[in-house]
This record gives sequence, structure tokens and C-alpha cells, in this order.
Amino acid sequence: MSHDIDTKRRNFLKTTALGVAAVPFAGVMLQQQVAKADLPKLSEDDDIAQSLNYVHDAADAADHSAYQDGAHCGNCSLWTGGDAQWGGCQIIPGHHVNRDGWCNAWVPAA
Ligand code: SF4
Repeated sequence: MSHDIDTKRRNFLKTTALGVAAVPFAGVMLQQQVAKADLPKLSEDDDIAQSLNYVHDAADAADHSAYQDGAHCGNCSLWTGGDAQWGGCQIIPGHHVNRDGWCNAWVPAA
């Protein structure tokens, strides 16, 4: 009888320990899913885009006083999109920007 209770308790403790151990992994997997999620593309009409003079095509910024030849999101230090055409920007959370785009916060990647 007490052997049965011990076995049940051991099984309960094992199951609980596995469940607790799985929680941090579930959190990491959820973060990865969010990072991979396809965020909406930033519109040039969006308030933050307007405030930064963001354009999808850096060629459209050629006449901007802050524009430097060759500058675009893909070679900006704030770009987080890797090789993607549309990717993240550290100062524009919740949206993707175009790697060929530009804004007046451009900082050359190191
Ligand atoms: Fe593009 Fe850099 Fe401006 Fe972000 S800060 S929108 S990556 S130029």
C-alpha cells in the first residue's frame, strides 16, 4: 500500500519537474516565433515614417540634406533584417522596413 503511494508520489514529482523544466524552453520558442513573425510593412505615410523622412527606396531621398551616397537600410547599423528584403529596424518596432529604404536616422553599419 505505502509502496503504491510512494510510486504515485514519485511519478507526480517527476511529471511536475518535467513541466517546470519545460517552461523556460516554451518561453524561448515563443520568442523565436515572435521574432520570425511577418510584421507589417511600414507605410511611408505612417507618422513615424514621416517624422524620420523614411522612404522605401533610398533613391527617393537623394535630394535630402542628410542623405549620404550609398546609404540604405541594409547597410544601417540599426537594421536587424539580415538578408531579407523587408526586415526590422531598432527604432521602428512593430514594422518592417525595406532594405533598400532610407531614413534620416541612418547610421553606417560598423
Ligand atoms: Fe532604415 Fe536605418 Fe532608418 Fe531604420 S534607422 S529606417 S534601418 S535607415
